[in-house]
Amino acid sequence: MSKILQKLISAGADISTRKTLKSALRVLGIKPENIDKLYIELKNSINEDMFSKIPPKDKVVFIPQCLRNSKRCKAKLTGLGYKCMSCCRCRARKIREKGESLGYRVFIVPGDSMVFNIVRKFKPKAVFGIGCLKELVIAAEEIGIPAMAVELSKDGCVDTTVNLEKIFEIL
Ligand code: SF4
Repeated sequence: MSKILQKLISAGADISTRKTLKSALRVLGIKPENIDKLYIELKNSINEDMFSKIPPKDKVVFIPQCLRNSKRCKAKLTGLGYKCMSCCRCRARKIREKGESLGYRVFIVPGDSMVFNIVRKFKPKAVFGIGCLKELVIAAEEIGIPAMAVELSKDGCVDTTVNLEKIFEIL
């Protein structure tokens, strides 16, 4: 956990939402470089323990569609996201296979609205999401169940990248 978060927690600040986190930082005179990054780090540290205790069968993994290989992808878009056809060794496939081998339900999704639909449909006890910071913050604030998240290391809408080791460590 970063020093900023430790300081906030020991000060007893309300950091339950991005908004209260922002106010707490202002009160303490802290100017974080990136409040969204800090917010996701905070959520991960709060949820980590709970997430690890829930069996994979009760958890869902969301992979953003941009981790597919845009030039080769043969996946078909369905009501539950992209159905991977295992056409190459793209990062989306590697994460999907790892997650499924551990017993998770894994979805390759085009955006946040499908994430919320899938959560409503399958009612998982926790979720793990990969995405750009903006989408992770929206999901973290609205998902309503324990969530872990990893930010893309290169974002954009196509051919993005992510640190696979970080993901596998959480799974
Ligand atoms: S392996 Fe799956 S997700 Fe990746 S490019 Fe091929 S069909 Fe698309």
